[in-house]
Amino acid sequence: MPSSTPSAFPMTIDGRSVTSPGVLAVDNPATGGVIAHVPRCTREQLDDAVLSAERAFRAWSRDVSTRREVLMAMAVMLKENVEELAGLITAEQGKPLAAARIEVLGSARWLRYYSRLELEREIIQDDERAFVELVRRPIGPTAAIAVWNFPLTSAVWKIGPGLLAGTTMVVKPSPFTPVATLRLAQLWNDVIPAGVLNTVSGDDELGAWLTQHPLIRKIAFTGSTATGKKVALAAAADLKRVTLELGGNDAGIVLDDVEPGRIAERLFWGAFTNTGQICTAIKRLYVPRARLAETVDALVALAEKMVVGDGAEDDTDLGPLTNQMQRAVVTDLVSHALANGGRAVTGGAPADGPGYFYPPTIVTGVEDGSRLVDEEQFGPALPVIPYDRVEDAVGRANASPYGLGASVWSDDTDRARAVLNQLETGMAWVNAHVAVAPHQPFGGIKYSGIGVENGPWGVESFTDLQMVHEARS
Ligand code: NAD
Repeated sequence: MPSSTPSAFPMTIDGRSVTSPGVLAVDNPATGGVIAHVPRCTREQLDDAVLSAERAFRAWSRDVSTRREVLMAMAVMLKENVEELAGLITAEQGKPLAAARIEVLGSARWLRYYSRLELEREIIQDDERAFVELVRRPIGPTAAIAVWNFPLTSAVWKIGPGLLAGTTMVVKPSPFTPVATLRLAQLWNDVIPAGVLNTVSGDDELGAWLTQHPLIRKIAFTGSTATGKKVALAAAADLKRVTLELGGNDAGIVLDDVEPGRIAERLFWGAFTNTGQICTAIKRLYVPRARLAETVDALVALAEKMVVGDGAEDDTDLGPLTNQMQRAVVTDLVSHALANGGRAVTGGAPADGPGYFYPPTIVTGVEDGSRLVDEEQFGPALPVIPYDRVEDAVGRANASPYGLGASVWSDDTDRARAVLNQLETGMAWVNAHVAVAPHQPFGGIKYSGIGVENGPWGVESFTDLQMVHEARS
């Protein structure tokens, strides 16, 4: 896609390609240049999308074998178009092409998983008095609102379970990264019945309209905690169901028995994959005081080996931040830390030149109470914080209003589990961080969200429970 001639990508509504009177420009975070124009969906077009999802719902919700076939065909389409879609993700989001390919193929893997997932029948009584079964009924037309750090993943984690459950959908990608999703919707249009999956683009206001639409019965949302609260308020008006995947401030806690050099690489990628733009990245690392220098040295050595650059270049390890807004957040939090006693052992300031680059940054000399430790940086800046007693590290990890993920690092699994069991999060890892799979529930507690995605739990979140009682006496 030449940067000098921005391409145009239509929306898909009721099985048709649709443009709008207005457009949004999408830029390449590695250059700042505009790469595409996408439709700015009007309110009338959004109505069309929701009405078409409503019309398609009845037939779609009745035929699970068609749903499985369609999901498999969608997975095949992703795989067949991996190069084009990965190129679009890199161009709009910034990640290295290899990581973009993993995102596309991972999305295919998720859809294959859902196409085959058998949901257990839930019979809770079967005797001479009654046969009682719990039936999961698809909720109805659903809004899927995605975010910019993983444009396809954050959409497909909703689309897969939602379609298997029997809901129809209106998908809204982030205004920063709508391109790959719109293109994928165009490709999928050959294999999905009209109206089942509608994809619209626009800015944040479009998200608000969607959450307020009276025919939408469920909202599956990924984004910030601040927006998640607005979504919950909008949902309350019609008692819509919600799944909210929100922000995080994951702690990694290294125990004193483990050699820092041995785990440094996993810790590094736990914090810096996708240039740190992962809701469940390690965002603060607690290390025994005696191991601090050794751990910091090992992480700095890795950070200084990284090639930071345009994701389209073969040798790039870390791409830019996806937008100027996020680079400003990281710059602000690191500057605040440095002005208040912190030290950037490596990195510490945004790169010059075009693009939203920020080098991998390791900060010491900060404690809980510093904004860089307490707030979500969602970018490549990791505070490494010493602790004296593991109970203190646990207390500080739990003091956050967020509760997404956490990890404990040790050669002694029993010891690690004993620490892990005290952590108040939706996900907890031993000797890993950001390990996800289609069969593992993914979600947070406290300000990190409501409900989970993935596995049978993800599918159930697109259903209402109906109790069916057959009297026998
Ligand atoms: P954001 O909340 O601003 O935007 C997310 C989506 O919501 C976008 O599509 C946006 O257009 C839409 N939106 C904005 N205002 C809306 C409204 N009033 N009603 C409905 N939709 C609206 O997200 P952001 O701050 O740009 O993204 C980063 C945040 O997302 C971080 O906090 C990160 O931790 C979080 N995140 C969470 C997960 C997870 O699974 N828990 C995954 C990725 C990112």
